[in-house]
Amino acid sequence: MKLIFLGPPGAGKGTQAAGVSAHLGVPHISTGDMFRSAISNQTPTGLEAKRYIDAGQLVPDSVTIAMVRERLAMDDCKAGYLLDGFPRTVEQAIALDEISAPDAVVDIDVPDERLLSRLTGRRICGKCHGTFHISKLADAHTCPVCGGEVYQRSDDMPETIATRLKAYHESTEPLIGYYTGLGKLRRVNGDNQLEEVFKAILASLE
Ligand code: ADP
Ligand code: ZN
Repeated sequence: MKLIFLGPPGAGKGTQAAGVSAHLGVPHISTGDMFRSAISNQTPTGLEAKRYIDAGQLVPDSVTIAMVRERLAMDDCKAGYLLDGFPRTVEQAIALDEISAPDAVVDIDVPDERLLSRLTGRRICGKCHGTFHISKLADAHTCPVCGGEVYQRSDDMPETIATRLKAYHESTEPLIGYYTGLGKLRRVNGDNQLEEVFKAILASLE
């Protein structure tokens, strides 16, 4: 199965993708995670991507497409893939159709006014990489799963979030029309409990 998760920043794509990829037995490929690991390893891609990510802007298509092309050529993708955060532009979608076209595209819908509090309250565990909302943490600094220390992503600051939402509406939302035209779009309400969203995603794929 070759699957794309589409939706605004903070829609819960990453959280849902972790569960759905395990369920379907396909690798979860998050371009945001790939960029963050490239940045911490100071690779050429990481050095190039960092200034865009810190500003809340999209990394140029040429850089992003090259990175995904390389990843999709790896052995584990023979089973398919679950792409989270790619494509984010029509140019990326056209490139993906040439590399390895998706079977279905799940659009996780959440209204803008809910996204801001989700993103400003988002915390990541430095140890197990789990994502949590601060309202769900008993202790604002400690991961409830592994006890590691949680941190806030540098691009989860209010000014940067506004730029990311703008980039989503301008560059990524047109993909809804693109995949509707190809008959591949499935819509799921993401403004709901995690388990409900998970069930709705699986139902949309049947
Ligand atoms: P979120 O979905 O919460 O915005 P991601 O972790 O998916 O976060 O992405 C973080 C940042 O990485 C984006 O704001 C952007 O700068 C960069 N990025 C990730 N995927 C892409 C992509 N497909 N094209 C361009 N830039 C990307
Ligand atoms: Zn943890």
